[in-house]
Amino acid sequence: MAAFADPKVCAVTVPDATDSTFGTLYVVATPIGNLDDMSVRALRVLKSVALIAAEDTRHSQRLLQHFGIQTPLAACHEHNEREEGGRFVTRLLAGDDVALVSDAGTPLISDPGYHLVRHARLAGIRVVPVPGACALVAALSAAGLASDRFIFEGFLPAKGAGRRSRLEALREEPRTLIFYEAPHRILESLQDMAAVFGAERPALLARELTKTFETLKGLPLEQLCAFVEQDPNQQRGECVVLVAGHVAAEEGEAVSAEGLRVLDLLLAQMPLKRAAALAASITGERKNALYQAALARKGAAGG
Ligand code: SAM
Repeated sequence: MAAFADPKVCAVTVPDATDSTFGTLYVVATPIGNLDDMSVRALRVLKSVALIAAEDTRHSQRLLQHFGIQTPLAACHEHNEREEGGRFVTRLLAGDDVALVSDAGTPLISDPGYHLVRHARLAGIRVVPVPGACALVAALSAAGLASDRFIFEGFLPAKGAGRRSRLEALREEPRTLIFYEAPHRILESLQDMAAVFGAERPALLARELTKTFETLKGLPLEQLCAFVEQDPNQQRGECVVLVAGHVAAEEGEAVSAEGLRVLDLLLAQMPLKRAAALAASITGERKNALYQAALARKGAAGG
């Protein structure tokens, strides 16, 4: 077997050349709720490989059963994939094709698989992505927040102090922020975000994507907290939170709370440009600042 470097301590160049006698490792995305999101290519690959490395074999067995796939499954989780990719790399080196799947969505995205992919590439094994569902991309694609530049923060720390200090570090991040969050922590996380990023920062909660109770709710953070607090159903299921990036306020560009209140009332009644102009006449605040604030609020008000 080839010798492996520890990816944590050794900055190696991953070889591009692959040995044609080795098998291929396919990294296969599976649905995040709606089984119709399974791609034709994913089905073909899962049927044709010798072995499927799965985060949870019982979970993936149900998916395979649904699609009539009989390929054997073996567990690939954080503990056994660290050791040089375990038995999967041995099988790949022996010439067998292997597919890697996680419980839902794209493997490696807040899911296991990093060590296996890393060890496979270090061993000169071809690694082929089979793209498909991914909750963060699905949420971003429908959020109406800036999508040209964004950062994915995965899960925030579970405890309040750790969570707030991570959020503090992101306070002035200009790119759209994307978080995964567990339903039982969604309210406290949103409240911490409102406290750190400000009540008015546009945000969006994307819940139960592709499923029956799919909800995309865009509101300024404080209002989003109230929405989630008032409806216990919003504290169930799987969630992605998106928060607009920080916009550096130019001198004199900040809009007062009263300005925003007037703007919100007008936005409910008329087009954005007219609402900003009228809010400027009523409050005496700068039209451009109100216009920018209106754009940010409309951008977040997806649902
Ligand atoms: N690998 C997955 C992906 O590609 O998105 C993510 C796996 S991570 C362990 C699970 C988290 O992803 C959930 O806690 C939730 O934050 C998010 N997620 C997964 N499915 C979702 C869905 N249908 N709707 C909203 N969020 C989802």
